[in-house]
Amino acid sequence: MAETAQEILKMIEDQNIELIDLKFVDLYGIWQHCTFHKSLIEEESFLNSGGVAFDGSSIRGWKAINSSDMAMVPDPTTAWIDPFMEVPTLSMVCTIVDPRTGQMYERDPRSIAQKAVDYLISTGIGDKVFCGPEPEFFIFDDVRYGQEGHTGYYAVDSSEGSWNSGSSEPGGNLGFKIGKKRGYFPAAPSDTLQDIRTEMLLTMAKCGVPIEKHHHEVAAGGQCELGIRFSDLVHAADYVQTYKYVVKNVARKYGKTATFMPKPIHDDNGSGMHSHMSIWKDGQPLFAGDKYAGLSQMALHFIGGLIRHAPSLLAFTNPTVNSYKRLVPGFEAPVNLAYSAGNRSASIRIPLSGSNPKAKRLEFRCPDASSNPYLTFSAMLCAGLDGIKNQIDPGEPLDVDIYEMSKEELAKVPKAPANLGEALANLERDHEFLTAGGVFPEDFIYNWIAMKMEGEVKPISKLPTPYEFELY
Ligand code: GLN
Ligand code: MG
Ligand code: MG
Ligand code: MG
Repeated sequence: MAETAQEILKMIEDQNIELIDLKFVDLYGIWQHCTFHKSLIEEESFLNSGGVAFDGSSIRGWKAINSSDMAMVPDPTTAWIDPFMEVPTLSMVCTIVDPRTGQMYERDPRSIAQKAVDYLISTGIGDKVFCGPEPEFFIFDDVRYGQEGHTGYYAVDSSEGSWNSGSSEPGGNLGFKIGKKRGYFPAAPSDTLQDIRTEMLLTMAKCGVPIEKHHHEVAAGGQCELGIRFSDLVHAADYVQTYKYVVKNVARKYGKTATFMPKPIHDDNGSGMHSHMSIWKDGQPLFAGDKYAGLSQMALHFIGGLIRHAPSLLAFTNPTVNSYKRLVPGFEAPVNLAYSAGNRSASIRIPLSGSNPKAKRLEFRCPDASSNPYLTFSAMLCAGLDGIKNQIDPGEPLDVDIYEMSKEELAKVPKAPANLGEALANLERDHEFLTAGGVFPEDFIYNWIAMKMEGEVKPISKLPTPYEFELY
């Protein structure tokens, strides 16, 4: 990994780089990019704080046309050679600077992530926050490569296998196929996606992502997960971007398509992005202690903040209409805003980490990968810090089997919002924890609410669904 501009120049020289591809993330978590010839690298002061100019007015939700000049400033620690480009091309991730002020652009998600970390440091609570995201996704056949007449995407293993599908049923005996919720994780030949996942994982490593493992996930229709190691907040978000880029581009090579949509298949598991988090100071982990499940009092307060603000926080961690079709009972996705060391129906799980205090962390299970990882991790950190600052009590852990709980008992457990409209309304009411320390500007939050209401909630609410035709 390069650390400095000099190292980047040396990399360009040593590896015969012809082109530099500068990428940045938009509000929706989509990478935008522009490719420059290496000869421009000195002229355009690429590697100093001035950055490279572009038109910010064409990026959804950013600058107005009358103040559209923006600059992308590459971060040398994000440099890797793009494995999908024919000509040797160095890729770098950028932060966005407003040339009028010379400051980080207030609607740039990567800048917000940097500000979240700065805010942590300014509170004196900690100096480092580690994030370990687990994005899940589906691999589907790309019908553009398939037969004519198809109008939608089909899962790789979409025909549901089960022990009783006899050969008289349409499609023949499908007993050899992975059944609904049975994908975790029979070996080949049931698992038909081994090679493609291996290529995804090893390609990610070439792009600097610290890889750990890969496996088929629970849902039948080609659901997968690649495991990556935890990193500091900003780099963890960078790695989620690289993860998606690699997954989608390798899928494309195989004539397939990959989606991080939270609930693409009805009645089977959806795709989440569980996000692990812990705070450190002076090289010491602060979440390990002698309280419940080996947590510290600080970690419990952090959990208190997450639970209190979750109803509004989910507007960032679960920011699409589809997100809420995943947050329903029965599919390992959380519904209850509670914590537990073992209960996967709780929204916060404390993973068993043996006796190693360095591994002590919490897993927030609500987020999904339709979210922008920079905003997700930053908003989580803000909620947790609010909990620490205000010593918010998280209440009792939800260790009981929720199926055994009475209606009255269950009614006392707060629930995740039922839909995006509800989460946005909560965000409008409760966002001081996000604006604290100047992490999320107030304007950013109102822009987010408007963008999501007008672009997603309202149009979808007017749209009849296929099930309505069936019913009515
Ligand atoms: N897919 C599940 C979810 O939606 C998680 C399954 C798992 O990783 N155990 O959160
Ligand atoms: Mg996992
Ligand atoms: Mg998983
Ligand atoms: Mg998990």
